[in-house]
Amino acid sequence: MYNPKSLKAEEFINDEEVKATLKYAEENKHNRELIESILEKAKPRKTERGTECAGLSHREASVLLACDIPEMTEKMYALAKQIKEAFYGNRIVMFAPLYLSNYCVNQCVYCPYHYQNKTIPRKKLTQEEVKNEVIALQDMGHKRLAIESGEDPVNNPIEYILECIKTIYSIKHKNGAIRRVNVNIAATTVENYKKLHDAGIGTYILFQETYHKQSYEKLHPAGPKHNYAYHTEAMDRAMEGGIDDVGLGVLFGLEMYKYEFAALLMHAEHLEAVHGVGPHTISVPRLKRADDIDPDEFDNGIDDDTFAKIIACIRIAVPYTGMIISTRESEQCRNKVLDLGISQISGGSRTSVGGYAGYSAQERPHDTEQFDVSDQRSLDEVVKWLMDLGYIPSFCTACYREGRTGDRFMSLCKTGQILNCCHPNALMTLKEFLEDYASPETKKTGEELITRELEKIPNPKARKIAKEYIQNIHLGKRDFRF
Ligand code: SF4
Ligand code: SF4
Repeated sequence: MYNPKSLKAEEFINDEEVKATLKYAEENKHNRELIESILEKAKPRKTERGTECAGLSHREASVLLACDIPEMTEKMYALAKQIKEAFYGNRIVMFAPLYLSNYCVNQCVYCPYHYQNKTIPRKKLTQEEVKNEVIALQDMGHKRLAIESGEDPVNNPIEYILECIKTIYSIKHKNGAIRRVNVNIAATTVENYKKLHDAGIGTYILFQETYHKQSYEKLHPAGPKHNYAYHTEAMDRAMEGGIDDVGLGVLFGLEMYKYEFAALLMHAEHLEAVHGVGPHTISVPRLKRADDIDPDEFDNGIDDDTFAKIIACIRIAVPYTGMIISTRESEQCRNKVLDLGISQISGGSRTSVGGYAGYSAQERPHDTEQFDVSDQRSLDEVVKWLMDLGYIPSFCTACYREGRTGDRFMSLCKTGQILNCCHPNALMTLKEFLEDYASPETKKTGEELITRELEKIPNPKARKIAKEYIQNIHLGKRDFRF
């Protein structure tokens, strides 16, 4: 039976409830009155505490996703944009993945790292190699990483992951530093989550891949990941282990997207119901080509328009949750969805083990790539592109470093107060990037943008302080934050 408060996967992601939701959505997809009322409910409102949004239930959001009336879709896009502007402004947080090891004992049929793939070399970074990768990432300008590793208790035990995190945080190269390490590793025990928490990780990210249990079991025929309940209940164990910020995601293309969408929101509702805090981020990866993986062999691929609509509907349903898109997507696609709710993107990414140090963007090694990178531009190019589109690329990690995680982050965010510090923080971290890493052209565009955007800080005192900090960064000081 469906119970969002249950700790059992099959009760909080209840198949009957998902199917009933899809039926309800299908029956109401042309019900204009209902759709209008759902959109009305989701609108940002000014209250004495700031700007607030009600969000939507998985049923309400599923009606929006099912609706195929073009005029309503336009309204959804406009609302998604309005919500995004209310909570995120024009900032886009930048990050990069760092692949530590492609040893894996699982057999995920959509991933080239699966155990039975004997055509790719297996590689695990030594601590010296981790250091070189991090220096290469710092030299690009990155401050926030997501570390990735296959599941292999012999080659990549938790001790190895912890050692890598320690190495990453310890490297200070020129003005560079990695200030937040997010972790994307296999579902594990409460005890191991405690260790990750104690190592000072940012967000723990685990993609569900698919919420559809039967498909899940077929797509993961062997290995520890085969266990649907253990995987689906991982976020509860992570939170029990003290990790406040968790990141959800499904791999769109594996199952019917409407099913995944409803279940993803049910998972968010479950976290809120049990732990009092929803997911910190939601990622929206789509299945991509890789070594022995052909996305055309999967029946559930989604086109760019459907993908954009999913993003807009997630933005409307969970307004405070960050949304992440990676370089799996092309420049054109990323351009389209930035407005609809995406708040974090990767830039200059390499999806292979040891893909950064010693390689130029053109030379990137392909033999251990987890998936094809569609957007192959350098970080400098992505930063320039974002600024030309009117966004502020942000390297901010202030919340994490000020201890604003979990419900403390959410309560700031929910009352819109986060805007008072995000905007200047974004400008200050962009200024660091411009001073230390940008090409002359990017620097020129960025300086003009900072001058313009500083004037938009509403509080005169904060504006004055931000201007002083920016001047200090120009003089060589680093790491200011609100
Ligand atoms: S998706 Fe993860 S667990 Fe599955 S084969 Fe790839 S690396 Fe291993
Ligand atoms: S201040 Fe916090 S919410 Fe805002 S950009 Fe920085 S880390 Fe993110």
